[in-house]
Amino acid sequence: MKKKFIPYGKQWIDEEDIQAVVDVLRSDYLTTGHKVEEFEEKFAEYVGAKYAVTISNGTAALHAACYAAGIGDGDEVITAPITFAASANCVLYCGGKPVFADIDPKTYNIDSEEIRKHITSKTKAIIPVHFTGQPCDMKEIHKIAEEYNLTVIEDAAHALGAQYQGKNIGSISDMTTFSFHPVKHITTGEGGMITTSQKELYEKLLLFRSHGITRNKELLHNKEEGPWYYEQLDLGYNYRMTDIQCALGISQLRKLDKFVARRREIAARYNEAFKNLEGVTVPYQKEDTNSSWHLYVIKLELEKLKVGRKEIFNLLKEKNIGVNVHYIPVYYLPYYKSLGYQKGICYNAENLYESMITIPLFPRMRSEDVENVITTICDVVNNNLI
Ligand SMILES: *Cc1c(COP(=O)(O)O)cnc(C)c1O
Repeated sequence: MKKKFIPYGKQWIDEEDIQAVVDVLRSDYLTTGHKVEEFEEKFAEYVGAKYAVTISNGTAALHAACYAAGIGDGDEVITAPITFAASANCVLYCGGKPVFADIDPKTYNIDSEEIRKHITSKTKAIIPVHFTGQPCDMKEIHKIAEEYNLTVIEDAAHALGAQYQGKNIGSISDMTTFSFHPVKHITTGEGGMITTSQKELYEKLLLFRSHGITRNKELLHNKEEGPWYYEQLDLGYNYRMTDIQCALGISQLRKLDKFVARRREIAARYNEAFKNLEGVTVPYQKEDTNSSWHLYVIKLELEKLKVGRKEIFNLLKEKNIGVNVHYIPVYYLPYYKSLGYQKGICYNAENLYESMITIPLFPRMRSEDVENVITTICDVVNNNLI
């Protein structure tokens, strides 16, 4: 009998979450009320940043961060090729040019030496992506940023709850962005956050999120007009989150430690099970980082297999294992191709892409599902060894 489909990722919503949302629906404010501030305060406190700004999704968070960093026409921003398109799209939104620096073949994260090679007089910022939840080499990236006066925006969509050298992700760079899409660590349906400890950036983020409009007396040109008065200081967007979403976010945040602990537990079980499996390489963990395990990615040792990634992928799918591939190198996407990006620019990323498969990992996964995934993968791989 075929076992029930196990997705690669899924939210965990409980009665407390549902009640929190219902309470807002019965209240006076559905948006721009106190739940927004409360979520921001609790989130900032959790990661250890001075400020947190809610925003409609993780992509908008990246867009806002690029705006706050002053990215404009012709500016270059260095990011990773193995990521979701949003990590690079945000640069294009601002008129800038994403530049892809190759990954480290061991960690799958952006390689600091490759970042250095791509710096030009037009480089303005670096967007490191903490792939699968394992933090990038931030010490080296900050060193480069200082040397060339660049802004660092961490794309931490995978890394809420992760630590780098004992510090929480969200507390260490100019800005850090998060996503609350249902497959991420906590969810608000759609939602995002930017954390920063710099007041100037914080104020820019607030402006950008709400049309470029402010009532903040400190920023107004005309401070005497009256209590109704506001000014639009720049061209912003409506990128706000609702109180309904923020109430869910507050409730989910309370469970984040439990969610991350369970993710780490499942990842440890996978590491153990696949460590000696011929044909598969398990994710490498750096000693000074503590991943929050958004994804578990196995790398196939294709030279030891009779078949390719596609065949293994299809065999697992047939057995109802919700496999996925994260990610197609961004510059392979036809839109990027149309902008002139060509294959061959990031050797390690392209090589990894050929052999990677994401397997199911989410906190509510039952141990019997974990064991089912392990047995199925071992069977499929063993049956296809040369
Ligand atoms: C999910 C994700 C985003 C975008 O977040 P959304 O909330 O879906 O807009 C950006 N970068 C990475 C690496 C992601 O995984």
